[in-house]
Amino acid sequence: MYKSVVDFIQELYKTKDFIPLHEPKFIGNEKKYVNEAIDSTFVSSIGKYVTEFEKKIAEFVGAKYAIATSNGTSALHIGLKLVGVDENSEVITQPLTFIATANAIAYCNSKPIFIDVDKDTLGLSAKKLEEFLEASTYMNDAGECINTQTNKVIKACVPMHTFGHASKIEEIVTVCDKYNITVVEDAAESLGTYYKGQHTGTFGKVGIFSFNGNKVITTGGGGMIVTNDEALAKRAKHITTTAKVPHDYEYIHDEVGYNYRLTNLAAALGVAQMESLPLFIEKQRALATRYQEFFKDSELEFINEPKHSTSNYWLNAVILKDRERRDAFLKYTNDNGIMTRSIWRLMNKLEMFKDAQCANLSNAEWLEDRVVNISSTVIL
Ligand SMILES: *Cc1c(COP(=O)(O)O)cnc(C)c1O
Repeated sequence: MYKSVVDFIQELYKTKDFIPLHEPKFIGNEKKYVNEAIDSTFVSSIGKYVTEFEKKIAEFVGAKYAIATSNGTSALHIGLKLVGVDENSEVITQPLTFIATANAIAYCNSKPIFIDVDKDTLGLSAKKLEEFLEASTYMNDAGECINTQTNKVIKACVPMHTFGHASKIEEIVTVCDKYNITVVEDAAESLGTYYKGQHTGTFGKVGIFSFNGNKVITTGGGGMIVTNDEALAKRAKHITTTAKVPHDYEYIHDEVGYNYRLTNLAAALGVAQMESLPLFIEKQRALATRYQEFFKDSELEFINEPKHSTSNYWLNAVILKDRERRDAFLKYTNDNGIMTRSIWRLMNKLEMFKDAQCANLSNAEWLEDRVVNISSTVIL
């Protein structure tokens, strides 16, 4: 059974050698642009490639503004900070996510509240979110949503588009609007993913993307904040650039800022990768189609794009019958040179977040026991 999966993946990638989970591809102008950046001597955070990369991402996702950052985590940290997340507020997110989501909340000295995901999207459940807000919060005179358990303001909500499948983001935004909670979308995994034709990351007040080496496109390390809010965009650029006041020769900083800007060298890579992005997405989707066909009559269930989502299929995933079979599958594939891995341990089970407030997490727990990522490098 599992042998046929290994055989199929080896046939897909035409190799019996080790097959990593998701390898970057550099097939275009990467070396040319990086060399140009070196020759220009603008290798740090000022340079034409940073501006061009920001412009390309803004255009691609359909956002008014894009601000390039050193990585996706720093983009999320700043995104949360700019919507007012601090030590006096709390942030709702999903327990089934990459650690960066919860870490960024902690960087703001805020606390996460974990709400369950939907089984079909692997993303935050709008229904369970609404149930929690109805049962466990009230609106104060200032129109803020107060958590009855802690008396703190629930300031923001961070849904994540898992593996490049869109969560029910429109519904999530509708619920959050009702409770005056700002949506910050963790779209780190979903560049090229649309919900009802609109690009993920553009539904909330702020969206963030990651260009880490294993994402759909890479800058080595990098991230992006996107927003339609001009004031927020300006603040994002300012505080990611050490809050330096623009001046011809004086050297002044007007608040505690961050050295979070993307370098021109990295952005050069990003501009070249953007030229390949449409091809990458086409090929990721073609690979997913081959998996769909292969797993059609299998005991393993391939995770298809949910309703309303046009997914980038960044990471392909299957659902095993139970935890025991998941473990057997993980062991067999990894022993045979195919890198596979389980979905993340739930955030609320990690030492740092074990005291966090949680609603019922039955879907996340069910998925945690069963979901495995399989080979997802684009085949060109
Ligand atoms: C990759 C990723 C990030 C950001 O990661 P960086 O490595 O900091 O770029 C954030 N959230 C999720 C869900 C991710 O997958």
